[in-house]
Amino acid sequence: MLDKLVIANRGEIALRILRACKELGIKTVAVHSTADRDLKHVLLADESVCIGPARGTDSYLNIPRIISAAEITGAVAIHPGYGFLSENADFAEQVERSGFIFVGPKAETIRMMGDKVSAINAMKKAGVPCVPGSDGPLDDDEIKNKSFAKRIGYPVIIKASGGGGGRGMRVVRTEAELSEAIAMTRAEAKACFGNDMVYMEKYLENPRHIEVQVLADGQGNAIHLGERDCSMQRRHQKVVEEAPAPGITEEMRKYIGERCTRACIEIEYRGAGTFEFLYENGEFYFIEMNTRIQVEHPVTEMVTGVDLIKEQLRIAAGQPLSFSQSDIQVRGHAVECRINAEDPERFLPCPGKIERFHAPGGMGIRWESHIYTGYSVPPHYDSMIGKLIAFGENRDVAISRMRNALGEVIIDGIKTNIPLQQDIMADENFQHGGANIHYLEKKLGLQ
Ligand code: ADP
Repeated sequence: MLDKLVIANRGEIALRILRACKELGIKTVAVHSTADRDLKHVLLADESVCIGPARGTDSYLNIPRIISAAEITGAVAIHPGYGFLSENADFAEQVERSGFIFVGPKAETIRMMGDKVSAINAMKKAGVPCVPGSDGPLDDDEIKNKSFAKRIGYPVIIKASGGGGGRGMRVVRTEAELSEAIAMTRAEAKACFGNDMVYMEKYLENPRHIEVQVLADGQGNAIHLGERDCSMQRRHQKVVEEAPAPGITEEMRKYIGERCTRACIEIEYRGAGTFEFLYENGEFYFIEMNTRIQVEHPVTEMVTGVDLIKEQLRIAAGQPLSFSQSDIQVRGHAVECRINAEDPERFLPCPGKIERFHAPGGMGIRWESHIYTGYSVPPHYDSMIGKLIAFGENRDVAISRMRNALGEVIIDGIKTNIPLQQDIMADENFQHGGANIHYLEKKLGLQ
């Protein structure tokens, strides 16, 4: 096993990683900004190093400072968590060049998957179903672009190859808007991502977001752990996630899962990863791959019994997968609500001191969070302060446990989105299952 590991992240995921390390007997180093001295995992880690001021670029995004922390503490590996540097190929490369283990895939895999045009090409080659599209970057040849769009059929969507976070996309409904939309998306892509490559896809009107969790050891073994439904979104940000996805049969799970595992072997994938799909009229369409652990990983853990972070650490230590595909059974149902420090009506972040905190509990309830009474949520980072996960033998049981738990948790001093989550859990269409990615915004009157 790894001897000592740097947790290059903060908040709930840092605590999640710390707990997995402790179980495996790995010593932990918390690196943190000056705003995060009081984070729970910093207090619980074997060692901690302050790596800079609150601003992300001065701390959690500062590659030399994180690598220096690993050097001075004698760590052997670095776990990037999610967000921050987790999908930064240069970071992965520098970590490995400096002689440390990066808990994740090889830098070249991250680079390939971070560029959506090259990711789609790799997936097509591996037999993963993709959205019909331009099959490569667009140039400025108007006639050619119009003929692509005609072949695909309007509406189409122009997307930045280097895009992320739901930015750098434009829907085009008629030929008259096409050239301007390409030029605008290109300009935006250049400004936001430093890469003006754009491509075209069929715009799916009412899809669901369904994603497949994989684990691969980079030694020729890969398995999938079923799918998650993350269609409850606001501004392309997931709000509620669940596993399995309502209405997905065992045969469909096998069909899409096998294609993902085959792709992992083909691209020599290593670590935990997620294939994201849009799902419409019974068909899956690949949109991108996340080469890291995701926020919503616990719902998969609850229905498969696999600890994904421990598996990441074992793979990083060079061990082969401890499961084969036939060991993986999806059992019961799990729902996750993201708990954010935000105004539930205006969606503005609401940092500040938590005056009183009471955790929810009961059978099937899991609370992943770093908050405690007296903790101050700093204004500098993402507003997510915790994740509430409910498991049950079926979806109805999971939802009723979630409703109980949301009613029990007390977070005083700051506003949270718990009222919004209670509203979603009480919503008939959510309870029915299978709502599409526009449902929540329509419900909120945002569309
Ligand atoms: P990002 O990396 O910015 O998250 P994605 O490619 O994952 O970008 O797309 C984000 C979201 O944009 C999707 O979840 C979906 O809501 C919407 N989207 C992307 N591509 C399409 C498409 N071809 N048709 C319809 N919606 C799309």
